[in-house]
Amino acid sequence: MSFQNPVFIPGPTNIPEGLRKACDMPTIDHRSPLFGQILHPARAGVKKVLKSTEAEVFIFPSTGTGGWETALSNCLNAGDKILAARNGMFSHRWIDMCQRHALDVQIVETPWGHGLPADRYEEILTADTGHEIKAVLATHNETATGVKSDIAAVRAALDAAGHPALLFVDGVSSIGSMDFRFDEWGVDVAVTGSQKGFMLPAGLAIVGFSPRAMEATKSATLPRTFFDVHDMAKGYDANAYPYTPAVGLMNGLNEACTMLLAEGLDSVFARHSRIASGVRAAVDAWGLELCAASPDVYSDTVSAIRTPYGFNGTDIVTHAAQAYGVAFGVGLGEVAGKVFRIGHLGSLTDVMMLSGIATAEMCMVDLGLDIKLGSGVAAAQDYYRAAPALTSQHAA
Ligand SMILES: *Cc1c(COP(=O)(O)O)cnc(C)c1O
Repeated sequence: MSFQNPVFIPGPTNIPEGLRKACDMPTIDHRSPLFGQILHPARAGVKKVLKSTEAEVFIFPSTGTGGWETALSNCLNAGDKILAARNGMFSHRWIDMCQRHALDVQIVETPWGHGLPADRYEEILTADTGHEIKAVLATHNETATGVKSDIAAVRAALDAAGHPALLFVDGVSSIGSMDFRFDEWGVDVAVTGSQKGFMLPAGLAIVGFSPRAMEATKSATLPRTFFDVHDMAKGYDANAYPYTPAVGLMNGLNEACTMLLAEGLDSVFARHSRIASGVRAAVDAWGLELCAASPDVYSDTVSAIRTPYGFNGTDIVTHAAQAYGVAFGVGLGEVAGKVFRIGHLGSLTDVMMLSGIATAEMCMVDLGLDIKLGSGVAAAQDYYRAAPALTSQHAA
């Protein structure tokens, strides 16, 4: 097995050398000021990446899924009404978690490939004159379908309805790769993990809580122990944790924030947009279509590509692994077998992406699809040659 090739899955992402080194640490006493020198800068860095001056950042040894649970269990009560749209596997799983926590979810069924319907949210919130809905869920980037949603529009829907529900945003596959504005969008809880935009191994749930969300935690009665933000906050004041922290990963997170902020968030987002545009040019040249229904919802971190009717998209992923040692993503849930996914987030350059496009092309030709070798690569090359790179793409 070769570890030489980059991965093109939408998380975990490629880990830059500097971050691998930052995670590789000798053991330190996690109840000492030395740990504080990792913890506090990591939290401050995440806050900047969230574009927030007010978020309270908590870091749990967990994954994005644990971040979902942190949002629900700290802010809500059993039986609370929740508003959520289901437009892909990740929004589906968060809804499922709500139901398992005895929350009463009003689900807006949305075609997979479409973004969150902010107009439907507004109608439902306006009709809820008794303010029974306590939280609105929004998946910023549906990783299953390669669809981004307009979180500012969801905030505008809440405001237009004059509704006080909390806004919980899943930013697992957007934060650190696509524009995310915690304060400006009035986000109450933002959720992410270490293994996507932060380019680290899996192992951390990273959440930001607004002052309103912190207020809600005071009366929320859903059971919580491991994910209790008050226990966590108490530990932080003493440079400590309620249990054993993942120190190496947190050191990596601190370094990841430094890297992202040194490149400049706007440059990071522009790089993702540019790399994604090259992938989309290739898909177009192959004569294939994205699962994402229209350009306004195209994700800059993952593309889900529809394969021709009767052709199992998963075969491309299996063949890529076996024949070329390269990883792409399979279709999930409703689109299983109907799409394959190219992840293009994290530590990636134009040149790395061209190798991924070339590999996908070889696989499709090997499997008999009517695609011309080099067609997608050429389309992406044309795009990358013409589009100016904002930052140097030398390895960090
Ligand atoms: C990856 C992902 C998750 C799940 O995160 P885990 O770290 O695997 O628990 C949740 N939401 C979205 C949008 C994701 O892409």
